[in-house]
Amino acid sequence: MEIYDNYSLKEYNSFGFNVRARRFISVGNEEDILAAAEQAVKSGLKYFILGAGSNILFTSDYDGVIINASCNSVNIVEEKNRNIVVSADAGLTWDSFVEWCVNINLGGVENLSSIPGTVGAAPVQNIGAYGSEIKDVLRAVRAIRLSTGKAELFSANDCRFSYRESIFKNELKGKYFISKVYFNLIKNPDQFNTQYGNLEERVNRIGKKSLHTIRQAVMEIRGEKLPDPAITGNAGSFFKNPVINRQLFKSTHHKNREMPYYETNEDHIKIPAGWLIEECGWKGFRDGDAGVHNKQALVLVNYGNATGIEILNLAERIIESVNQRFGIELKKEVEIV
Ligand SMILES: Cc1cc2nc3c(=O)[nH]c(=O)nc-3n(C[C@H](O)[C@H](O)[C@H](O)COP(=O)(O)OP(=O)(O)OC[C@H]3O[C@@H](n4cnc5c(N)ncnc54)[C@H](O)[C@@H]3O)c2cc1C
Repeated sequence: MEIYDNYSLKEYNSFGFNVRARRFISVGNEEDILAAAEQAVKSGLKYFILGAGSNILFTSDYDGVIINASCNSVNIVEEKNRNIVVSADAGLTWDSFVEWCVNINLGGVENLSSIPGTVGAAPVQNIGAYGSEIKDVLRAVRAIRLSTGKAELFSANDCRFSYRESIFKNELKGKYFISKVYFNLIKNPDQFNTQYGNLEERVNRIGKKSLHTIRQAVMEIRGEKLPDPAITGNAGSFFKNPVINRQLFKSTHHKNREMPYYETNEDHIKIPAGWLIEECGWKGFRDGDAGVHNKQALVLVNYGNATGIEILNLAERIIESVNQRFGIELKKEVEIV
């Protein structure tokens, strides 16, 4: 366990804000996690579990204890014919895990290539991209209840996954430290999921369909659309795509015939938030160093010295204008701390 006081979080938030934590504890195993939680409780300070900070917007210094996982091993737990169970530690970079799987021909996470962040945070918002979500391959989550230090195993069902949601983001928010995630993967797969958007076409351009070509295609497409946080601070999609009821959809669509939409079930329809924001004229908008990305209106960016408050104010203005124009309320995907 490593403990630092007045610690800079610049490298621990993808917006690149130069904020500090009163105390930062790096935990390498489950005993450390418990010891860190005990320390935080004893000190009377608030605490926050931080991964790579790629879905977080810090509005100020954090006057408490940040607990961050540094454990990063990956293991094959069980092998049966072509089915394989793999465990990965919370502190492992998500994309290193995907790369490891693809390199040894394990299928299941290739569409989730290039998503920033850690393995431990991936179930928290049920990360998803290109027609896949972590819930599709997640077998279980091992998590430590911070108040008791007891390790518990959550099945995929227990995690109550839905679009960018899980029990860890809601009822159990901040109560459990995810220490390990177990995945159901397929050895040498011959079936792939390339139906989303232009993925199939891009894969075909690269070569024969395989885990490697899918990973490469996803990385290429993402690289063209999304700003690299190492160059321009951002947290990916700032807003969730709103899912609205059929009644609201009918009235809004009647006035906006060109509005794209996807039926999610009989009663609900998902609208691309990026389209709504773009229609309100925000794409490419810039106020000082806070802005809306010029290729993807869903992404708010820090061009250098914007503060968390400035980005948050911009987000609120966008929410208000989309609401006024379409009667649809955007919800933030990024967590405000
Ligand atoms: C350029 C860019 C593109 C992105 N694209 C996508 C995308 O395509 N799809 C997608 O779903 N997301 C995307 N994101 C968002 C982000 O990558 C994910 O939400 C990711 O899972 C966050 O991981 P993290 O380690 O940075 O978590 P953090 O941002 O540090 O934390 C996120 C939440 O998880 C909690 N948490 C972190 N670690 C643990 C743990 N060990 N135990 C319990 N709780 C924990 C935190 O308390 C917080 O509530 C993108 C972000 C960026 C910057």
